[in-house]
Amino acid sequence: MLERLESLRQDALARVAEATDAEALRVLEKELLGKEGVISEILAAIPTLPQEERRDTGRGANALKGELLEAIGSKRALLDEALVEALRDGGGFDPTLPPATPARGGLHPITQVRREVEAIFTSMGYEVLDGPEVELDYYNFQALNVPVDHPSRELQDTFYCDDSHTVVMRTQTSPVQIRAMERLKPPFRVIAPGRVFRNEEQDATHEHTFHQVEGLVVGEDIQVGHLTWTLRRLLNELFERELEVRLRPGYFPFVEPGFEFDVRCPFCEDGCRVCSQTTWIEFCGCGMVQPCVLEAGFSGREDVDVSKLTGFAFGFGLDRLVMMRFGIDDIRNLMGGDLRFLEQFPC
Ligand SMILES: [Zn+2]
Repeated sequence: MLERLESLRQDALARVAEATDAEALRVLEKELLGKEGVISEILAAIPTLPQEERRDTGRGANALKGELLEAIGSKRALLDEALVEALRDGGGFDPTLPPATPARGGLHPITQVRREVEAIFTSMGYEVLDGPEVELDYYNFQALNVPVDHPSRELQDTFYCDDSHTVVMRTQTSPVQIRAMERLKPPFRVIAPGRVFRNEEQDATHEHTFHQVEGLVVGEDIQVGHLTWTLRRLLNELFERELEVRLRPGYFPFVEPGFEFDVRCPFCEDGCRVCSQTTWIEFCGCGMVQPCVLEAGFSGREDVDVSKLTGFAFGFGLDRLVMMRFGIDDIRNLMGGDLRFLEQFPC
């Protein structure tokens, strides 16, 4: 029996050394050391041996078992290492490298500035409202006193969603003002930030999709002074200093009087690219809400006496503000979706 063990040992070690892959090694291991393997067979046969052979056979078989276990373990390690080497040399997947860290997202620069603007207005007691981007013509135009022949209604400006032109992609966030008047009880202060859509030729300052922030304040004795104070406060907080402002007459169908609200360029003293060398930046359109717009907005509301109400409204482009804040000179970058651009504004 001891001779058989010795020949088995030599044969088994030679076969382990010759195994070429993990699967061959696994089969061999089962054959040698498995429950029904050669070693188990020898150990099971010990009671049938002559008394004097039993002890040495038992010792020999267990020693061989230990030796084979170790040989197979070392061989497996060698095979694993060779596999990794082969993968690495092949330029493929390297299982020894740590996994790639998932990229962390960031806030879009428009979202960053929008949140800043919202924080300033909520600190003044404003409510932030949202509204549909696909809007009825009534809310987008009619209720805002936009006459049927107004240029902004023409096809080149507006995306219509149906043949009868009753549904539009909103061209402004103003419809949210009408919805606010339908729902809220004066006095109230609201802003409506959001996406708007125009069927326009795209260039460095025009996009078909852009962002506005509109505001509406309705109550008794609301005057132009409240409007200018509010916009000054916004700009002072955004640019963290006192900026000179001016009002010029401007035409917007839903306000009377209407104004263009300009701010002294925060980036220069005698003209620069941002202000087109004028030292003034046209910041927003605004004015006192037309009585007919208030009437349309509050129509059917028995709890509201429209005759006592006045209000102001304003609207400015968020994209323009973002471009000013970050020194971006082409609006198309904002919605272009190029991560190399967006990653420059981490937050
Ligand atoms: Zn300037």
